[in-house]
Amino acid sequence: MKFRYLTFAGPLFALSAISTQAIAQDGDFPSLQMQDVEQISIDVDLDGAIERLSKAITFPTISNQDREDFDTQAFDDYHAFIEQAYPLVHETLKREILGDPRPYSLLYTWEGKNPDLPPALFYAHQDVVPVPPDSRDEWEQEPFAGTVADGYLWGRGAMDDKNQIHGILEAAEMRLAEGWQPERTLYFVFGQDEEVGGPEGAAHIAQVLEDRGIERFAFVMDESAPLIPGIFPGLPDNTALIGIAQKGYLSLELAINAVGGHSSQPPEESNIGILAEAITKLEDAQFPYRIHPALRAQYRYLGPELDEELQPLYSAVAFGKEGEMTEDEKKFIEVMAGNPVTRAMMRTTIAVTMFNAGIKDNVLPPSATAVVNFRPMPGDTPDVIIQHVKDAIQDDRITLRDISASTPATAIADPEGPGYKAMEKTIRQIWGNDLVVAPFFVIGGSDSKHFQARSFAPDVYTFTAIQLENMKEFEGFHGVNERLLVDEYAKTIAFFYQIMSNLDGL
Ligand SMILES: [Zn+2]
Repeated sequence: MKFRYLTFAGPLFALSAISTQAIAQDGDFPSLQMQDVEQISIDVDLDGAIERLSKAITFPTISNQDREDFDTQAFDDYHAFIEQAYPLVHETLKREILGDPRPYSLLYTWEGKNPDLPPALFYAHQDVVPVPPDSRDEWEQEPFAGTVADGYLWGRGAMDDKNQIHGILEAAEMRLAEGWQPERTLYFVFGQDEEVGGPEGAAHIAQVLEDRGIERFAFVMDESAPLIPGIFPGLPDNTALIGIAQKGYLSLELAINAVGGHSSQPPEESNIGILAEAITKLEDAQFPYRIHPALRAQYRYLGPELDEELQPLYSAVAFGKEGEMTEDEKKFIEVMAGNPVTRAMMRTTIAVTMFNAGIKDNVLPPSATAVVNFRPMPGDTPDVIIQHVKDAIQDDRITLRDISASTPATAIADPEGPGYKAMEKTIRQIWGNDLVVAPFFVIGGSDSKHFQARSFAPDVYTFTAIQLENMKEFEGFHGVNERLLVDEYAKTIAFFYQIMSNLDGL
């Protein structure tokens, strides 16, 4: 295997590696896991809460790829249900229904006692992915019935992401019943189109909040990975990964419109042949590997908990410097490049996702198109990527067009700041100390990218506050038999209840 290296010298991301370097100077690699946090138990009306979440699943708030296919009634009914189910929230908080051009996202404002403090924001999304008809038979329960059976609540949205919306609302309702008010203003944002990139909901609300003059959020939380034993390869422990940065998104269409004609007298080159060759050249011209500061932070926390044999490599990454690449870092890249997940954390990825040409067996098509999806690392802007593609294919006959609502890679949240510490502390207060908590670099992405890409939200942390039994259950995210352990939902609510007051002390 061949590797190309590029040292990363971006100006934005110096923070994570710097403050930990001092610790490493004696060659030590100590654990950064918070110790001895006192676990607390919080009484939750689990039966009532499950009933409400079950009802929430019955509203088919589906995001279809065809955006004309949008069930406004499902969203209207869902909003009416939320309003009736959480009366204190709707008495006390300001609710706005926003979105551009279609307003189906919810923005709640809970005024804090101290308007001088920077606010905090909790994000979750209302929409769910569709249930493809050919997978319907594999579901053990109706996907939109909200059935409770065998200790689980079943249905689309049970994990992704209605349990987070309702965890937040249950917690707020409990707090309000106790007469509690936050110190800093809290916003809840529940988007309408996360599953298709969030252009109408999250992107719009981020703009609205910026236009209202918010200069800085002290803390933003959104979904990402749930708490699962073994979620990180090589670490069997129960692990909470807290996302601190997200890659970007860009889809380019490559097109060629040359001569078609009859297949009995073909030209020397066909449109399909030309485009296929360009795609092959592009796949051969992968972006270089580099180590993002979020990845350094990830291995600073995970490294000491992982297999000792590879610790010198993890340590090299954790304490590595921007602009340099040591032998151990090169070895780390070689090891991690063998796995598609860790490989994607180290470079802008190239995925050829569509190829269209031709309608008949004896007609040369006058055009051919292909779509390539990129997940950019910071610094790889659309311009950089388009230039990379042009340099790779070296063919002026092929045109390039950005067909996505492209988003850049986000900034990196501080893995040592008070927001991160509040997250870890709350996780341990609710789930105990027998687990690993670590920051990580998110290669997918969720709606909070629309906030995190702006300067007013430097510290966005992503974590789905729900315990799953094992990795098998994780397949329910976007898959069949999405379900939630009923008993675990109590801790989801307790997590949000507790973090609301922990944020007072940021
Ligand atoms: Zn989601």
